[in-house]
Amino acid sequence: MIVHEDVICSFCGCLCDDLTVEVEDNQVKRVKHSCRLGASKLMGHDRIKTPMIRQNGELTEVSYQEAYDKAAEILLRAKHPLLYGWASTVCEAQKKGILLAEEVGGILDSTATVCHGPSVIGIEEKGLAGATLGQVKNRADLLVFWGCNPAEAHPRHTLRYSSNVCGKFTSEGRKCKKVIVVDVRETRTSKNADKFIRLKPGSDYEVISALRMILSGKAEILPDEIGGVSKAELISLVELLKSAKFGALFFGLGVTHSRGRYKNIDNALSLIAELNAQTKFIIQPMRGHYNVAGIGQVAAWETGFPMAIDFSRGMPYFNPGETAACDVLARQDTDAALVIAADPASNFPRSVVEYLAKIPVIQIDPHENPTTFLADVVIPSAVAGIEAEGTAYRMDGMSLRVKKIVESSYPSDEEVVHNIIASVRRLRSNVIVEGGT
Ligand code: SF4
Repeated sequence: MIVHEDVICSFCGCLCDDLTVEVEDNQVKRVKHSCRLGASKLMGHDRIKTPMIRQNGELTEVSYQEAYDKAAEILLRAKHPLLYGWASTVCEAQKKGILLAEEVGGILDSTATVCHGPSVIGIEEKGLAGATLGQVKNRADLLVFWGCNPAEAHPRHTLRYSSNVCGKFTSEGRKCKKVIVVDVRETRTSKNADKFIRLKPGSDYEVISALRMILSGKAEILPDEIGGVSKAELISLVELLKSAKFGALFFGLGVTHSRGRYKNIDNALSLIAELNAQTKFIIQPMRGHYNVAGIGQVAAWETGFPMAIDFSRGMPYFNPGETAACDVLARQDTDAALVIAADPASNFPRSVVEYLAKIPVIQIDPHENPTTFLADVVIPSAVAGIEAEGTAYRMDGMSLRVKKIVESSYPSDEEVVHNIIASVRRLRSNVIVEGGT
């Protein structure tokens, strides 16, 4: 039995780095300290066994090389291919993905466009008063969870980094912290809060604006109720926010995907900037997939843009609303898709999935999911953080190295994308040679 200490969980954006994993006969037998979500990933479940190509309507087993060549052929034939996903894989694979998108003149987009894309745009416009989760653990005495539910989506966030952990200057843990939840419904997180503020759906922008007005001394011109919350309650919330020695506001898709979208985030960032005139306050998005923050970083340092990057003009072009995955699929402006570490068939609108089913789809993933059923080429890969190592970015922007703890016969995502690039180059040079003779 081999016992691996300080293993990083590659499930959600918390990237908990304190797991103990027991491995026997090259299999994970036991996982300690993780939540149920992380344990279920590390313990493993059904895998796609071999590469497959759809022939006469059926997925048929082929060699890896045949799958790479078929994927390359599809991408080369397409006029405007989409390369989508990238959130549940490591930065090394993401970097290769950008190279592949450039090679084939395609669009590279990540799952951020359907989760925290609006946050990324808001942060680009306004800047972010941020901090590491370590600073939050050690210093924050007031936590606000707005439109997010860490008790279910990031189960160890409160235990490791925020409301329930003891830190250097918060040694009494939950007893010395105040927790405020703002949401449109009760959640498991709100049940443990000191204060729960229930908004009307879609009123985040108005409520944030009201808080900013109260903070700047203009409460008297507000109506008695804003977004389903009384003015008196919002005044007392502002007093609470101001009373923090170190406040931290975490927000989720309840804010990024309600009415107002990136303007909600823009407004929330302004609120936090203004609170910093009175006390110390930070704000962080609750990133979901374990390396969705990483694809934003890699794409930004490689191309200057964080997502939805179109290479068809011979240079990176970014215009969410036009170049995001759902936009090009909805306009039928893409004629092939490579999907890696994602499942658009489960998450995209129905009409978009119907179009996806009509075009050639290449899937790279360790596990079968609904996208597999509409894929024409399926390439199984190793699970990063268990069977392959690499770099991932935690939700606060800290880069961490996920480990390989078991051997695997599956290639890593990085190797798969690298081999598709090699096939693209070989097929393209063959066409050029044949065309020239
Ligand atoms: S909170 Fe997230 S990163 Fe931590 S163990 Fe659970 S799933 Fe893994």
